[in-house]
Amino acid sequence: MFKHFLQKKLIYIVIIIFILLLSGCSLNNGQTEKTENETNSLIKKTLKKADNVSCKSNLNQLKMAVEVYRAEYGNYPNSLSELEGRSIPKIPDEPAGGQYLYNSQNGLVSCSLGHSLDN
Ligand SMILES: [Zn+2]
Repeated sequence: MFKHFLQKKLIYIVIIIFILLLSGCSLNNGQTEKTENETNSLIKKTLKKADNVSCKSNLNQLKMAVEVYRAEYGNYPNSLSELEGRSIPKIPDEPAGGQYLYNSQNGLVSCSLGHSLDN
């Protein structure tokens, strides 16, 4: 009778340990997933920042190339492609897949994705 009671209790204990282990595992998995998500968003943020920095550097180069062109030819170029081979070897690609917009009225270059030298 006593032995039977002990066996029954042992089964309960094993079940409880099993449940604890299971919940511990799923909790761990949840945490790993969360960390992965955080890492991914951190990577995305870092890449975005890198795009921003390299776009700003391009905007600076283009701005200077426009000014050099104007100093040399006396007027702003009609399009950015006129700068190529004159005041810049090649118009750089927008790093995040956007485009460089150019206003021939005031010589200002901007990024279609909103990157700017001001921020
Ligand atoms: Zn940009």
